[in-house]
Amino acid sequence: MGEIKQLPQNVANQISAGEVVERPASIVKELIENSIDANAENIEIRIEDGGRKLIRVKDDGHGILAEDIEAAFSRYATSKIKEIDDLYSLYSLGFRGEALASISSVAEVEMLSRHKSEDAGVKIKIKGGDILEQKPAGATVGTDVLVRNLFYNTPARYKYLKTTTTEFSHISRIVSTEAAASSDISFKLYHNDRQILSTPGNGKLKDTIYAVFGEEIADNLLPIDIEDRYIKLSGYLTRPELTRSNRSHELFFVNKRPIYNNITAKAVESAYHKLIDPGRKPIVFLFIKVNPILVDVNVHPTKRKVKFSRNQIIYDVISKGIRKTLKEADPTTRIKLEKNREAESEEENNRNDSIESDDKKVADDSLTNKKEAQHENLFENTFNKRKSTQRSKFKKNNRPNINDSRDSREKNQNKKPEINIEESLAAGISDSFNEEYNIEADNVNENRFKFLGQIFNSYLIIETEEGLKIIDQHNAHERILFEKLTADFNKKNTDSQSLLIPVKVELSPEEREIVRQYKDVINEFGIEFSDFGGNTILIQEVPVLLKNKSTRNIIEELIAELSEAGRGLTAAEVEENMIEYLACRTAVKAGKPLNRKESIQLIKDLYETENPYRCPHSRPVMINISRDEIEKGIGRK
Ligand code: ADP
Ligand code: MG
Repeated sequence: MGEIKQLPQNVANQISAGEVVERPASIVKELIENSIDANAENIEIRIEDGGRKLIRVKDDGHGILAEDIEAAFSRYATSKIKEIDDLYSLYSLGFRGEALASISSVAEVEMLSRHKSEDAGVKIKIKGGDILEQKPAGATVGTDVLVRNLFYNTPARYKYLKTTTTEFSHISRIVSTEAAASSDISFKLYHNDRQILSTPGNGKLKDTIYAVFGEEIADNLLPIDIEDRYIKLSGYLTRPELTRSNRSHELFFVNKRPIYNNITAKAVESAYHKLIDPGRKPIVFLFIKVNPILVDVNVHPTKRKVKFSRNQIIYDVISKGIRKTLKEADPTTRIKLEKNREAESEEENNRNDSIESDDKKVADDSLTNKKEAQHENLFENTFNKRKSTQRSKFKKNNRPNINDSRDSREKNQNKKPEINIEESLAAGISDSFNEEYNIEADNVNENRFKFLGQIFNSYLIIETEEGLKIIDQHNAHERILFEKLTADFNKKNTDSQSLLIPVKVELSPEEREIVRQYKDVINEFGIEFSDFGGNTILIQEVPVLLKNKSTRNIIEELIAELSEAGRGLTAAEVEENMIEYLACRTAVKAGKPLNRKESIQLIKDLYETENPYRCPHSRPVMINISRDEIEKGIGRK
């Protein structure tokens, strides 16, 4: 007998399950899509223990014929592909007839279904691929699937499951997305018997968005409707004032199926560029209809990663379409966009100017900038002018010049939203530059230093025995606050204060769940909140440190931090993340002029920290230029 053997069907199904069933959320997605395909009008999803204990999806679709119920669980069995050609069109995306087979090979599945043409239903129980029971049963028209004991026979996969909160947050994201994709279906989601989500199913996308994502988003929606030769866009965007800290609210659908695609996300983000703060992400619900010639069938079976064959066309239509929509809908946006265009045409003109006149312009700008910075629009104009001036210079001579460093500084700052680019550029040359300093030694423990001044409104310069030190004021302050907050937190001594007017924060069901899970930690940080019904919470108290900041954004970003942290971090790590975040958000920004007294205090405080050399994100706080290096550079040595 040869050595090569056919794998038993069950094992083959388990292997295939690895592809289809990544985690409870993937099962939820497959079951929901089966219900959608069965023309259900109501889909009820009940989850217990993040899906570990139970995943139940019940629909009122057309149901399954009693004679077909067994076949539904065998591999490559599907009622959905009538012609093989369907496989190559987007409409059959993901119909591979293996979901139920895969799921039932790694769990205990019970299905109760009654076809609309039959008087009675049928019940089937399958465990690890084996049929345990099959018999007629009373049922209403539709299908009810219960999945229990997920991964009971694949311990390696079971171990890979994350916390209940994390798994449920994936499920909730899937259900929210599917609900947005099908506004004509009413979705209800329960976790451990608590209702998390309920959509009306009245066919109105706006009402569905209201139900899933809350009033604030629903009230700020701008409809988009663009038709091009190859692609049709519809759905909603939100005004640039309303953003999120990650891509969780960028939803794309191709032919009503949720998809993930980098190009569409990039196109959207490019359209919002300069209208929203760097690091923030827009909110879009974009339904895309494409000419099939632009879609590659090269798709991931479960993740729905669609590949477009002519990316550039898709990118351009989306990005221009969104700009047009934003421009028509919102007067403030229009002003900003036109300023950008002015800047671009100026860039054209500048190509013919001499380098000298460009330099003069930059200098002129920095002199007048301080006053202008007060006025946002005016300033935005200047800022764009400056940028275009620099860009045009780059085009003309490709060699490095003095502006290179500024340009790269801008780039770096774009990555770090905490640094205020506008301020640092607008301030130009610091006043303190010309201030005269008394030479004086400040004794801090054993660290003697002489404060020399602040440069670029961002760095403090001191002389010490080791040499000349350049201290990054933001990183330094972040280190100080980080240690102070850690100490306060350990002493349970976070100062907080009540808000005069409580701030309403609307959360997604997923975010609500995370807040519920981490309520104690959040409270310990001095953030007090109460339920406001649905997924809305009312923030009543915030840490004193945050008193003048935008509570909405801070809470939201904190929640984003926590949802990241939820993926496998310990409680101590979660705390550390929150502290890092608060320190970063509240530390003095680069670009802020500091007076002598403030500077010296900051340096003293820094030297009292445990690690004055690194900020909590491990970026250097200071650099040192030794006397030796200076003397070598100057040629004395
Ligand atoms: P696929 O969806 O790719 O066809 P599945 O394994 O998910 O493969 O389902 C197999 C078959 O079982 C489907 O083609 C369909 O005929 C039937 N089926 C599954 N779920 C339902 C449901 N909720 N309502 C009606 N029929 C269903
Ligand atoms: Mg299916």
